[in-house]
Amino acid sequence: MTECLFCNMGAGKTPVDKLHDDDRVFAIRDIHPRAPVHFMVIPKEHIPSAADIGQEHGPLLAHMFQVAKQVAQEEGIADKGYRLTLNVGEYGGQLIYHIHMHVLGGRRMGPEG
Ligand SMILES: [Zn+2]
Repeated sequence: MTECLFCNMGAGKTPVDKLHDDDRVFAIRDIHPRAPVHFMVIPKEHIPSAADIGQEHGPLLAHMFQVAKQVAQEEGIADKGYRLTLNVGEYGGQLIYHIHMHVLGGRRMGPEG
């Protein structure tokens, strides 16, 4: 087992309820939701943060956005709209250093920051 929580979740070594699970990404609810619907889309590949994204990750990123949309539709927040955020580093509020896309919806969002 690695030290990385999201790698372990992705590999099924740490049990968690998944909203979506395929060969490249999975989605789970945030344990501290900041909106009526708040889940995260997480790649199974270990990429520390959005600052480590390279050109080669293009197809994976596209897949993350598509899964975010699909789960947003299943959660009933797609029609009104939702917010996607990637926190980067300490000041960006990143808590786990394995890239994850937050998807928030179910209410009108305020300005960023
Ligand atoms: Zn990881």
